[in-house]
Amino acid sequence: MLKAYREHVAERAALGIPPLALNAKQTEELIELIKNPPAGEAEFLMDLLTHRVPPGVDNAAKVKASFLAAVAHGDIQVALISRAKATELLGTMVGGYNVHPLIELLDDKDDAVADAAASALKKTLLMFDFFNDVAAKAKAGNARAKAVIQSWADAEWFTSRPKVPEKITVTVFKVPGETNTDDLSPAPDAWSRPDIPLHYLAMLKNTRPDAPFKPEEDGKRGPIQFIEDLKKKGHVVAYVGDVVGTGSSRKSATNSVIWATGQDIPFVPNKRFGGVTLGGKIAPIFFNTQEDSGSLPIEVDVSQMDMGDVIDIYPYEGRIEKAGQKIADFALKSEVLLDEVQAGGRINLIIGRGLTAKARDFLGLPASSAFRLPKAPVDTGKGFTLAQKMVGRACGLPEGKGIRPGTYCEPRMTTVGSQDTTGPMTRDELKDLACLGFSADMVMQSFCHTAAYPKPVDVKTHRELPAFISTRGGVALRPGDGVIHSWLNRLLLPDTVGTGGDSHTRFPIGISFPAGSGLVAFAAATGVMPLDMPESVLVRFKGELQPGVTLRDLVHAIPLYAIKQGLLTVAKAGKKNIFSGRILEIEGLPNLKVEQAFELSDASAERSAAGCTIKLDKAPIIEYLQSNVVLMKNMIADGYQDAKTLARRIEKVEQWLANPQLLEADADAEYAAVIEIDMNEIKEPIVCCPNDPDDAKTLSDVAGTKIDEAFIGSCMTNIGHFRAAAKLLGGQRDIPVQLWIAPPTKMDQNELIKEGHYAAFGASGARTEMPGCSLCMGNQAQVRAGATVISTSTRNFPNRLGKNTNVFLGSAELTAIASRLGKLPTREEYLKEMGIVDSDKAGIYRYMNFDQIPEYAEVAEGLGNALEQHP
Ligand code: SF4
Repeated sequence: MLKAYREHVAERAALGIPPLALNAKQTEELIELIKNPPAGEAEFLMDLLTHRVPPGVDNAAKVKASFLAAVAHGDIQVALISRAKATELLGTMVGGYNVHPLIELLDDKDDAVADAAASALKKTLLMFDFFNDVAAKAKAGNARAKAVIQSWADAEWFTSRPKVPEKITVTVFKVPGETNTDDLSPAPDAWSRPDIPLHYLAMLKNTRPDAPFKPEEDGKRGPIQFIEDLKKKGHVVAYVGDVVGTGSSRKSATNSVIWATGQDIPFVPNKRFGGVTLGGKIAPIFFNTQEDSGSLPIEVDVSQMDMGDVIDIYPYEGRIEKAGQKIADFALKSEVLLDEVQAGGRINLIIGRGLTAKARDFLGLPASSAFRLPKAPVDTGKGFTLAQKMVGRACGLPEGKGIRPGTYCEPRMTTVGSQDTTGPMTRDELKDLACLGFSADMVMQSFCHTAAYPKPVDVKTHRELPAFISTRGGVALRPGDGVIHSWLNRLLLPDTVGTGGDSHTRFPIGISFPAGSGLVAFAAATGVMPLDMPESVLVRFKGELQPGVTLRDLVHAIPLYAIKQGLLTVAKAGKKNIFSGRILEIEGLPNLKVEQAFELSDASAERSAAGCTIKLDKAPIIEYLQSNVVLMKNMIADGYQDAKTLARRIEKVEQWLANPQLLEADADAEYAAVIEIDMNEIKEPIVCCPNDPDDAKTLSDVAGTKIDEAFIGSCMTNIGHFRAAAKLLGGQRDIPVQLWIAPPTKMDQNELIKEGHYAAFGASGARTEMPGCSLCMGNQAQVRAGATVISTSTRNFPNRLGKNTNVFLGSAELTAIASRLGKLPTREEYLKEMGIVDSDKAGIYRYMNFDQIPEYAEVAEGLGNALEQHP
């Protein structure tokens, strides 16, 4: 074991990174060696046991905790580890399998052992229901249990940690312009995300023409030594950029930045916390994910900071100095940020505050004054928006009351989604949170990002993750089922709140706040999520949809009209974006089908909005939910687990259907801005130009551009788009463009095949892909380097669909027409082609009403009452 391990250490050292944490088998072998240590190895073996086994409820942690518990109880004797030492080591394991033995050891007759157990528990936050066991011991007179409760009540776990210093000196690592999360955690490297140090090597791996550093190997390895050299100045390195963290909710992006800028967590292998990020603009989800990890994100003018500068940050005074001269002022987002850093992260702070509150309650003490309280905003007395009411209900407010923007709250999470490139990290975070069962009512895991072209590590995830999720009460999809959102939306309840580890978790009914995987794990485990309620921006559509104009064009009309009103700029320097961090609330299209509504809510991610609501009438929601009940019954019949969770959700949907009521915004609700879009004015498609989803222009502005490849797929599509595309391709052979087709779900694919549309795709020479994300994320198949592309996918960030590509975002209809013509058509060419679609709208734009498709309806019927079979 040691020989193999040392070889592994050497391989990783050659890459400049630490070895992987030990797995369960290695830990078992290590324990056998510790029982009988080879000469000269004792210290090394103990170091491995102490520092290289993951904590929480990892399988290796289970092995370590059982061994240490046996030693601590005296069941086995080991020369290298005394009973007190074993207890002390149990105390470094954060929570999970170590907690029960530590509580038992409070009764130990050996004072050294019992004292070590008490000291360990005082610092343990992940107690959850184990709190009651300590409380019971305290009530029964155990003095150490009492001391533990008193320590929690006094928040010693918090006050014993160092405060944020008055002055933080850092060396600037400046990345000019915008860094999106794809720069920090590139999609093609998604497979390595759970291995934080290895994944970090890909950070900024693509050459940036304006950056004062070069990747060590373009497209492969980022400026690692460059950052190491900056550290040699003797200070922490701060990540500094004009716009930082735009795009997906990637915890992995935060992990990479913190690996570069933070510090090791004692006893936790290959994880860091802390660090400083300074950004002219820091994308909200990235900001939150940094908070969760104990980093200090500050929005500040960075124009006076250059690469390699040594600067002093005065966090309490809101000032930054270079060589004693002030170069910028700032205000922290909230003073609570200082507590979050002190606690080692927002999640630690929330869990710890909860434990302190419980302990004080038990002791009959008033609320603790150890923490900074979030400031409540002034109540304007005005009405509430739809989002504010939904969150209000999830926080238990009286009906019709809402949460004012700026209020800190913890809404109940009714539905939580996880996909496969963030899933393994969420799994690791769940282990760190010692989670053995979900408190959120519905947690769903998909495999849409990696199913089509899996790497060995993905195959392992496909094999192992479903059981991890379903044994905790979640529902696991299967590889090949399709895109997360097209499924998750089918499990939703109206007017409820949720989250997901994918930035496109944007519920079309209810509201969701996508988050990094740490927060998603927290939401799944505890059933609530911390939220600083954002302001809202209202987008109100009016008028009639004009011939040939599609819903996708309305999606792109939102940035176009925001640009026209001066509320959004395309340029990065001094970027304006009214939507950033706010909730996009959309009205004026009440009769959209829910599948269509998702096209609008999904794209709120591209606006960098925190969430989205869409005002819909009851009829389309009732239609959708009736269909979804049948789909969920089919899932149970097909053996999807956890069936009990599905059955429970069916029951809740049916309860809503029995008395359908929807929340509505008040007429005098307040918005940060109102954007009116008159559909009568939109007479041609609107595209987003290379390579920025904000760069919206009319087709006429770009007509004639030669197209090399085209993609119809992603969560932005539904079955109607593929019918329209098949019709527009018209059976033409040898189209001049490489066309890619990927339906969002296997149900869509089956229906499209049944209806004969795959014949049209085949005739055109299109490459048809497995249902799932396909080209959209760019972590698997990609278009040719340098190609000009039109795509229905969500975003066109540089290098996402393929290296050095130029990507236009457009409707499926425009994409199909451009594929046939080999260029972006003129408005006239486009409208002429669209005649064939406009003449058969009812036939083309039909959606998946499973209750009306005989094979699904029959299965549902055959299942009878799902709840009776899955009580
Ligand atoms: S289709 Fe694209 S945007 Fe949608 S979930 Fe997959 S990768 Fe994300």
